[in-house]
Amino acid sequence: MAGRLQNKVALITGAGSGIGLESSILFAREGANVLLVDINIEAAEKGAALITQRYPNVKALATKADVGKEADIKAAVDKAVNEFGRLDVMFNNAGIMHPADDNALNTEEHIWDLTMQINLKGVWWGCKYAILAMRENPTDESKGLHTGGSIINTASFVAIVGAATPQLAYTASKGGVLAMTRELAMVHAREGIRLNSLCPGPLKTPLLMDFLNTAEKRDRRMIHLPMGRFGEAVELAKAALFLASDDSSYMTGTDFNVDGGLTSAYVTPI
Ligand code: NAD
Repeated sequence: MAGRLQNKVALITGAGSGIGLESSILFAREGANVLLVDINIEAAEKGAALITQRYPNVKALATKADVGKEADIKAAVDKAVNEFGRLDVMFNNAGIMHPADDNALNTEEHIWDLTMQINLKGVWWGCKYAILAMRENPTDESKGLHTGGSIINTASFVAIVGAATPQLAYTASKGGVLAMTRELAMVHAREGIRLNSLCPGPLKTPLLMDFLNTAEKRDRRMIHLPMGRFGEAVELAKAALFLASDDSSYMTGTDFNVDGGLTSAYVTPI
């Protein structure tokens, strides 16, 4: 049976860990050739090797890029197109949550700037070079391949609800991702390029677990989680697969919440 991303090409940033790694594996399982992009090249290469071993019918390559640098993103997109011939799916997923990110009074400007550089500008540049590549995609009707494509930008539930445990720069950067994605979705809707935001709830990945490094910090969040647990990266990868594939062909500009009900919550069960 043909996979849901058969013959397609996907580039995933932050592919060395968490959501990005699980998505790379799942996209490859569904037939995509995958370029795993990460600032941590060892982690990305490990992911690519695992995919190559598990799914020999597809190609998986790794490349080093800092998404906070425009030239790095351009080079990564160029590599996907040069190696695989096209770009159908761009998953702008890499992001940071800096331990020194705090409230309006304590957050230092360089922490704010670094967070914006990676979380917001990095997504903008990812969209820019993906759009340029997707416009040039060769059409092959026999393989179900067309111009255009799907761009998925990872935002966060904190772009939708406020937290009394502040990380101001992170929250603002993710709010920017949501607004930017909606606007780009409108601009490019008639070109067959779909853009959607993925809004994860709190997950059991290094990004959050390194930050919630005490039981007290974890419990402070747990009472607000309707399902009584943190999410798993693979649960987000499944949602990303839906947004990447033609199953979501009539969706663009969406804030796609995969958060265990968090953003619908008032009083949660005990
Ligand atoms: P993770 O820490 O497991 O993985 C993040 C990956 O991004 C790492 O491999 C890291 O090396 C890479 N990375 C960091 N900075 C980079 C840079 N400048 N250039 C390229 N790669 C870089 O994190 P995750 O939980 O899978 O997070 C993925 C995305 O999901 C992030 O955008 C994050 O903000 C978002 N998110 C996470 C949660 C959560 O609870 N974990 C919740 C909401 C949103």
